[in-house]
Amino acid sequence: MSSEISTEVTRSQVELAQPILDAIRRHGSEAYPHECCGALIGLGDRVIESLALSNTTEEGPRRRFLIHPEDYQAAEARAAATECELMGFYHSHPDHPALPSRYDLEHAWPFFAYIILSVRKGNPAELTAWRMLDDRSAFGAVELIGDALGHRGR
Ligand SMILES: [Zn+2]
Repeated sequence: MSSEISTEVTRSQVELAQPILDAIRRHGSEAYPHECCGALIGLGDRVIESLALSNTTEEGPRRRFLIHPEDYQAAEARAAATECELMGFYHSHPDHPALPSRYDLEHAWPFFAYIILSVRKGNPAELTAWRMLDDRSAFGAVELIGDALGHRGR
């Protein structure tokens, strides 16, 4: 089955400050040609910290990301320690558009925001954010806001 991308825009938004954006872009570039992944920790709509996680998929890190349960727990612990919340996760798509795949949808959890960074030839490119729709049938686009973002990434 091919990827099905919803064009529906959800009400939620995610605010990314420049240092967070820089950290995600750097991580994506360093992990290239593999996918990177990490956790988004913050309060409300605002990401306060990005936490780099190891990519533990057994199908090859170049293609797919998977959050290991221990990494998930570490992210939740970090959020609790900083009196923040685990807001979601980010990962990169090496040499592919920043659009969620069918695999991404099947491995997503409700409520979380998912940031996808396209990395082209090792250079960070477009960045998008998504959240699963209530019926889990697709992702809805989440608006990214912040001084560093000159576009909405769609
Ligand atoms: Zn993906």
